[in-house]
Amino acid sequence: MEHLKNYINGELVEPISRRYLDNYEPATGRVYSYVPDSDERDVEFAVSAAEKAFPAWSVTPAQERARFLLHIADLITQNLDFLAHAESIDSGKPLSLAKSMDIPRAASNFSFFASAILHFASEAHTMEDTVLNYTLRKPIGIAGCISPWNLPLYLFTWKIAPALAAGNCVIGKPSEITPMTAYLFSKLCQEADLPAGVLSIVHGVGSKAGAAISRHPKIGAISFTGGTKTGSEIARVAAPLFKKLSLELGGKNPVLIFADCDYSTMLETTVRSAFTNQGQICLCGSRVFIQRSLYEKFKADFVARAKKLNVGDPLLEGVDQGALISQAHKAKILSYIELAKQEGGRILCGGGEVKLSGRCQDGSFIAPTVIEGPSYDCRTNQEEIFGPVVTIMPFDTEEEVLQYANSTPYGLASILWTGDLTRAHRVANQLQSGIVWVNCWMVRDLRTPFGGMKQSGIGR
Ligand code: NDP
Repeated sequence: MEHLKNYINGELVEPISRRYLDNYEPATGRVYSYVPDSDERDVEFAVSAAEKAFPAWSVTPAQERARFLLHIADLITQNLDFLAHAESIDSGKPLSLAKSMDIPRAASNFSFFASAILHFASEAHTMEDTVLNYTLRKPIGIAGCISPWNLPLYLFTWKIAPALAAGNCVIGKPSEITPMTAYLFSKLCQEADLPAGVLSIVHGVGSKAGAAISRHPKIGAISFTGGTKTGSEIARVAAPLFKKLSLELGGKNPVLIFADCDYSTMLETTVRSAFTNQGQICLCGSRVFIQRSLYEKFKADFVARAKKLNVGDPLLEGVDQGALISQAHKAKILSYIELAKQEGGRILCGGGEVKLSGRCQDGSFIAPTVIEGPSYDCRTNQEEIFGPVVTIMPFDTEEEVLQYANSTPYGLASILWTGDLTRAHRVANQLQSGIVWVNCWMVRDLRTPFGGMKQSGIGR
């Protein structure tokens, strides 16, 4: 079985401790490779490589930095099938999703920021005929990029690419649960001849390798995506060191459906926004509020569509729902389904494990689950479940649905369905979330600021 390596100073190297962790394939429950169990010594090694690389990289002309980034983007695209296969095995997501979403987006993260840095301009302010003030934006130095398991290469590259484009050196730590595509990506960086030390990838657990990055005094910025609890711990460590922080955290996103919407587009998209990647996307809509006059029709159609989703081996064609990331995560989701029942929820479909046979008999699968009824302020509707579990409930007035939608401590994204333009603007303006999609989902120009309100994050 393969032992993955850290990528430090341009080389693929073993962790200094020579210790490795098991890397599981979620669909089979079996260990299929080993991931470095790095610690602060590996982070220190990466920091010293970055310190050496920074003076030259930070003054490398933007055009040349852009060329490196474009080369990496091309290599990702050329290896799309291979990377998508690796990502599907590593994360349990359907291969079709890795092919159509994760890996293409990883490539476009690089091509987008390669272009952005060429078009970057800074501000100047004139004080009539006396003084000209201008702003110089400079790279910070070393940026730490820590990413989660749900969209492994997609989110990892979204952090790395802009930091490199701006002339920073980067030390990245992917989730140790899904290290494979970051490892393969480090080989592509070697192929692209990215100068040694400009990017290092240190694998390992958050409490060791991740924490060593957060607290390292020479790492001046942290870009973190993950859970709110971890984000709060990173902020606690990094704030006294005055690091620049970008925290993209959890969500409990509402879907507001008004009766005047385009029904078929809404239904099709609401199924996707609920269950894509087994509901393990921070932007999934997990609380669906439907105007009462449409409620019974929506309920019947939505449940029928959820029941039709094909749960199976993520590598097979025609599979809509793959495996959850781990047995531990599956147990957490099942415990929330039990909680929902105790809180008065009625399971309309799903509600339990799916047992597959053959290769996937020990994998972690849950049927897409729709729950009716628990009140908007109960734990089921307030806490992030991060799985294929959605609650539905009716509402009567705009005021009421806004109260439901805004009631959680999170404020990442909202999804609004209405054919009334005036209402769309009025309601969107009152939703407490970083992004509001109107009559669509997951469509975003990368130039648009991204990030949440309240406990969903800071620093965009
Ligand atoms: P975690 O917060 O558990 O982990 C995220 C990353 O942080 C991992 O690489 C993890 O390593 C690392 N980490 C853990 N503890 C520390 C620490 N003390 N110091 C530094 N790094 C640490 O999140 P998950 O991986 O479970 O991802 C799911 C969460 O991510 C959900 O809450 C989801 O909403 C959120 N998310 C938010 C997005 C957004 O854009 N707002 C997008 C996608 C996901 P390790 O894996 O080893 O623990």
